[in-house]
Amino acid sequence: MKADFCVVGSGAGGAVVAAELAESGASVVVLEQGPGHDADGFTARPPEMLARLYRDGGQTATLGTPPVLLPLGRGLGGTTLVNSGTCFRTPPYVLARWAREFGLEVDEPALAPFFERVERALSVSEVTPELAGANAAIARRGAERLGWSHGYLRRNARGCVGSGVCVFGCPTSAKQHTGITYIPRARAAGARILTGADVRQVLVAGGRAHGVRARRADGSALEVRAPEVIVACGAIYTPLLLDASRLADASGQRGRNLSLHPATAAFALMDEVVDMSRGVPQSFYVDEFAADGIMLEGVAGPPAYAAMSLPLTGARHARAMADYRHLVQFGLMVSDRSRGRVRSVAGRPLIRYDLVREDLDRFRAGLARLEQLFAAAGAREVYLPLGTGVRPQHASARELRLAAFHPLGTARADARPSHGVTDGDLAMHGVAGVHVADGSVVPSALGVNPQLTIMALATRLAFGLLGRPAPDIPRRSSSQARGSDEEAECLS
Ligand SMILES: Cc1cc2nc3c(=O)[nH]c(=O)nc-3n(C[C@H](O)[C@H](O)[C@H](O)COP(=O)(O)OP(=O)(O)OC[C@H]3O[C@@H](n4cnc5c(N)ncnc54)[C@H](O)[C@@H]3O)c2cc1C
Repeated sequence: MKADFCVVGSGAGGAVVAAELAESGASVVVLEQGPGHDADGFTARPPEMLARLYRDGGQTATLGTPPVLLPLGRGLGGTTLVNSGTCFRTPPYVLARWAREFGLEVDEPALAPFFERVERALSVSEVTPELAGANAAIARRGAERLGWSHGYLRRNARGCVGSGVCVFGCPTSAKQHTGITYIPRARAAGARILTGADVRQVLVAGGRAHGVRARRADGSALEVRAPEVIVACGAIYTPLLLDASRLADASGQRGRNLSLHPATAAFALMDEVVDMSRGVPQSFYVDEFAADGIMLEGVAGPPAYAAMSLPLTGARHARAMADYRHLVQFGLMVSDRSRGRVRSVAGRPLIRYDLVREDLDRFRAGLARLEQLFAAAGAREVYLPLGTGVRPQHASARELRLAAFHPLGTARADARPSHGVTDGDLAMHGVAGVHVADGSVVPSALGVNPQLTIMALATRLAFGLLGRPAPDIPRRSSSQARGSDEEAECLS
C-alpha cells in the first residue's frame, strides 16, 4: 500500500492524528494490531470483557516492588475503549515544568485551541450528580464535612445512562472513545484502516523513514510505503517498535522515564444502600491534596468486579460480598516520581518499576485520607488495601496492592537530542519522517488522567505536519462551558 502518512496504533494518539490528517485531504493508512470491537457484543460481565477488550486479558504487570498491574486496551480505539472517560486538560504548572525542564514550547494559551477541538469532538461535559450515583454522593458528603476541595468530573460521554461498566466496554456506546469518534471520521475522509495488522518494523533508508512492515492476523506480510510514519502504539509498545526497527537513539532514553500514576482503592461498608454499579463509576474527585501528588478519584463496578477487587479473603470477603449493596469504593492515584523502564525480551515488554520512598509516603498519606473520607461520610467499616491490622502509616511498598492505568514517558519529548527521543514537535531526533503521537512522548507524570493531553498533542502534531496554524477557539457561553451532555451534543 502507499500513503502520505502511515499511522501505527488507533488509540488516543493514533486515531486523532489519523482523522485530522485524513480530513485535510491527505492519504492515510492506519494499522492497528487488535481487532475492531462491536458494542452489541459487550456483555457488561467483567471476566468476559477483560478477556476480549484488554491486551493479555488485562494481566500486563510490572516487575519490581511492589508489582503493579498495568492493564492496556487493544483494538480500534486502543485503551480509550476501556477507559473511564475522565477528561482533564494538562495542568498549567505541568506545562510550565515541561517548558523549563524539557525545553518544550507549550503553555496554556498555545494548547487551548487543541484541547477545545478535542473536547468538542468527544462531547466532553461535566457529570450531573444524578448520573454520578450514590458512590459519588457518599464521597461528596465526606469531602464536604471535611472541607476538602472536590468536584464532579468532566467526561467524554453522550447520552450516558450510567451503566456502571465503562472499563468493561460501554454497552450503550455513550462513552465517546476514539473507536467510535475519530476512527469513523478518518474512514469517512478516505483513510484506510486495517485491524489485525501488527507492525514489526519502521523502514528507514539513509536516515529517513519510507514506510512500515507489518504482519496480518492471517500470517501474511504487508508493507506500507509512506514518507511519514506516525508511531502511536502507546507507552509500552512504542519503544519496542522503535527498538525492533533499530532506529538511532542518541539520548539513550528510549524505554526509560516510564511514569505510571500508580493507584489503589479502598472499600467501605455503609448503612445506606449504595448500589455502586448504578451510575458513572468515575464521576467525582477530591483534589485537596493534588499539590502533594495525591488525587482521589471515584471507582466502582458490578459485583463480579467488587469480588475481584475487595482486599479481603475467606469469610470476611464472603460477608462483605453478601452486603454488596451497601459497599462504596473510592480510589487514590499518585503523581509519581518513581520511573521505570520498558525493554523487549523476545518481542514482549519487560517492564521494571520500583516505587521510590517519596511515592510510598504519598500512598501512606493517601490511604489515611481515604479512610478519613469514608469515616466522615459515616462508614460502618473501612476496608483498606493492606494486610489485616496494618495501619496506612506503617505500610511497606511490598504490602501495597497497586494498579496503574496511565503509562507515559518512554519516548519522551525534549528539545535536546541528548535528552529526549522526540523533539518538541514530536519528531524523532535523528531519523527524518518518524513522529510519535501517544503517551510515550509525555515527559513527566501529569497528576491528572492523560487521554486529553495525548489527544491535544496529537491534534497539534497533525496541524504541524500539515503546516496549518492552530484552529480558532469558537466562543462559548458560560452555560455551554460547564455543559451537560445535551449541550455538548448541540455544540458538536
Ligand atoms: C482501565 C483504564 C481506565 C482509564 N481511564 C482513563 C480516564 O478516565 N481518563 C484518561 O484520561 N485516561 C484513562 N486511561 C488511560 C488512557 O486511556 C490512556 O492513557 C490512553 O488511551 C493512551 O493512549 P495511547 O495513544 O498512548 O495508547 P493506546 O490508547 O493504548 O493505543 C495504542 C494502540 O496501539 C496498538 N498497537 C500497539 N502495538 C502495535 C503494533 N506493533 N502495531 C499496530 N498497532 C499496535 C494497540 O493495540 C492499541 O490499540 C485509562 C486506562 C485504563 C487501562
